[in-house]
Amino acid sequence: MSTQRIRDLTDLPGIGTQAAEKLMAANYKTIESIAIASPIELTEIAGLGEKTAEKAINAAREALGMGFETADKVHERRAKIGRISTGSKELDALLGGGVESQSITEVYGKMASGKTQWCFQLCVMVQLPLEKGGLEGKAIYIDSESSFRPERIVQIAEARGLEPKNVLKNIFVARAYNADHQILLTEKADEIIKKEGVRLLVVDSLTSQFRAEYIGRGMLAERQQKLNKHMHQLARMAEMHNLCVLVTNQVMERPDILFGDPTAPVGGNIVGHASKTRLYLRQSKGEKRVARLIDSPSLPDGEAIYKITERGIEDVDSE
Ligand code: ADP
Ligand code: MG
Repeated sequence: MSTQRIRDLTDLPGIGTQAAEKLMAANYKTIESIAIASPIELTEIAGLGEKTAEKAINAAREALGMGFETADKVHERRAKIGRISTGSKELDALLGGGVESQSITEVYGKMASGKTQWCFQLCVMVQLPLEKGGLEGKAIYIDSESSFRPERIVQIAEARGLEPKNVLKNIFVARAYNADHQILLTEKADEIIKKEGVRLLVVDSLTSQFRAEYIGRGMLAERQQKLNKHMHQLARMAEMHNLCVLVTNQVMERPDILFGDPTAPVGGNIVGHASKTRLYLRQSKGEKRVARLIDSPSLPDGEAIYKITERGIEDVDSE
């Protein structure tokens, strides 16, 4: 491995000016974007050989310190994982204690399945003291569907015995107008997180702006690439700041599925792999809701029943 400092795409082995130009045009503008790319992507875009692409990716990863670290460091970091209670014991049990920090939790489901309610609930719960299931932290809310409702926060805060005014002051809200803006806001969030003691970052919804902007088969690759960048950005922030990242996702109809549930979350593997915890939300009778844990690497699959009332998320048997 060369010891030369890597600042530019052309500093990567095997990438000349021409290849760099092609990569830039395809929106691979940074060392980070190369580090998380696959060799096939680079082969197709910049006409690199697969071995060359692999070398460039490895060099980018090395330059960013994405290589090995000793297990005690990993252990030390993981010992600091925090959890936010959802407000329902059943849900918390399904999640192994609540919504985890240092990784992405994704809630997906149809319209009105309660995704945004989860976001409101967690924005309040994160502010509670540790013994009450919170992390004594603030929240950032990136709102891409204009669905943020402070009135709802007030209701949920009151139900938890918190002063609504203070609770609202601890939530930083921004409206995302398009996919690039959403990515930019996430970058900006970095500064607030450090300064303000933020422990929860909400993106509601993760995919709607991407879906609106990149329409049709021809734009799918570009959409997925940008979404990939966004997911990695969120995952990195979760680890770096010991942050809980909660994203919501829509579902789409899958005409190829004839039996069972014909819906699937938007974003395919790119979102699926980056979200460590995925919950499929659906409506049941009346106030009742069901959350199903999907493909968790560390928890058994299962379902929890809870309810959404004026007070927010609660156990079915709570009064
Ligand atoms: P999604 O984001 O998945 O589209 P929402 O999180 O906005 O859905 O959920 C909307 C649902 O939440 C409503 O249909 C209603 O059942 C429930 N809800 C919202 N506000 C209240 C409230 N004040 N009291 C009781 N239930 C509410
Ligand atoms: Mg919503």
